[in-house]
Amino acid sequence: MSDLTKLTLKSALDGLAEKHFSAEELTRAHVSAVEAARPLNAYVLETPDKALDMARASDARRARGEAGALDGAPLGIKDLFCTEGVRSTACSRILGDFRPQYESTVTANLWRDGAVMLGKLNMDEFAMGSSNETSAFGPVVNPWRAQGDETPRTPGGSSGGSAAAVAAELCLGATATDTGGSIRQPAALTGTVGIKPTYGRCSRWGVVAFASSLDQAGPIARTVEDAAILLKSMAGHDPKDSTSLNVAVPDFPSFVGKSVKGLRVGVPKEYRADGMSAEIETLWEQGVAWLKDAGCEIVEVSLPHTKYALPAYYIVAPAEASSNLARYDGMRYGLRVEGANLTETYEKTRAEGFGEEVKRRIMIGAYVLSAGYYDAYYLKAQKVRRRIADDFDQAFEKVDALLTPTAPSAAFPLGQSSDDPVAMYLNDIFTVTVNLAGLPGMSIPAGRDASGLPLGLQLIGRALDEGTLFSLGSALETAADFKARPQAWW
Ligand code: GLN
Repeated sequence: MSDLTKLTLKSALDGLAEKHFSAEELTRAHVSAVEAARPLNAYVLETPDKALDMARASDARRARGEAGALDGAPLGIKDLFCTEGVRSTACSRILGDFRPQYESTVTANLWRDGAVMLGKLNMDEFAMGSSNETSAFGPVVNPWRAQGDETPRTPGGSSGGSAAAVAAELCLGATATDTGGSIRQPAALTGTVGIKPTYGRCSRWGVVAFASSLDQAGPIARTVEDAAILLKSMAGHDPKDSTSLNVAVPDFPSFVGKSVKGLRVGVPKEYRADGMSAEIETLWEQGVAWLKDAGCEIVEVSLPHTKYALPAYYIVAPAEASSNLARYDGMRYGLRVEGANLTETYEKTRAEGFGEEVKRRIMIGAYVLSAGYYDAYYLKAQKVRRRIADDFDQAFEKVDALLTPTAPSAAFPLGQSSDDPVAMYLNDIFTVTVNLAGLPGMSIPAGRDASGLPLGLQLIGRALDEGTLFSLGSALETAADFKARPQAWW
């Protein structure tokens, strides 16, 4: 494998600027790496011809002195993003061979800045899942293995393809989305960096909707700096998304490496979940010590409604999903299974097109929204959501950011929880609060468990204060000095 795939995004961009190699060479190296890594099942669609065309166009732009911020950088795109003329399925059978006639705003922003598309990345169907096992294309295999153990493990989900591709050096960075943890948990399980920005920072236009009040796009990358570079391109106001925030995008990379001296970091006592593994607990304490050494003041804070977050999320998210997914009726695009009449065509199409987990969410969502149950479930969950946001507001009167673990465990074996939805939902225990409150959250690789699998720490920030997360994240990154990479077995 060529060394060009081992570069960080930042060093690849520097190398392109200094003409050490061309975008075409950089892209060819990645195309070969992607082909060689098919056993990981990270890509559901490879677009090598498009990638090479984009790379050659990038080289031409650079020769004319017109290179953009990401010019020539090969990236992977989660299959939830609509890409013009390129199959976009959300990894569901119901979208069939759907080729959008438009480009999502986030990916359009990346192409505007010169990035190159390597292909579409695997994910849980409609982004519902925590292990990538609900994908219609089958699970992604985590490039990481436990020492002396060949058991295939999950890369996490739903952005499992994005995280695995970044960890296995199959792209310099990837787009991902996070409704309840789908950027941060896969980042934690693969030793990569992932940031879910503030709700409204990135446009949702052209991103297949799961739960619209929670969905946000963000990057997965190998370093904090790379994540900052990518988010700067992805973010920005978009009149086509009514929840997109009309605020300037800060120069995120300039926050990386900035002193964190004097910042106050809160440790929420409610995140000490029952039965938390000793390794996660130790890692968290280590993170606190690292930030103290970097000059932060550590403050214990309370987020009293934390224990209601997961149940509230698993009402709000399915409710919105059941409504969003009503559009897949076999009439306009994607799969259509003919029945004897219109109703039967709807029924057959949806029965064959949706997977088990998606059907479960639609049923839960329809139930909690139905007359007679609406007040008891949906309305109650919305009230809980308000309380959770208030808890954060109060904490942020005292602190500048919060530090917690990202996920309750390291990468677990494929199949371990796939027929136990409640066990699967518990993966999101530390991440869903952030979506319910609309705040930015970031996962940083911070250590490894006894079997050598990566573990992540989560930083949570004030709304629109991703900058502080990039500074604190880079302080943790420097202290943790996480250099390990998965051994290529594929
Ligand atoms: N695992 C969570 C769920 O299944 C979160 C998914 C996501 O963030 N897209 O809903």
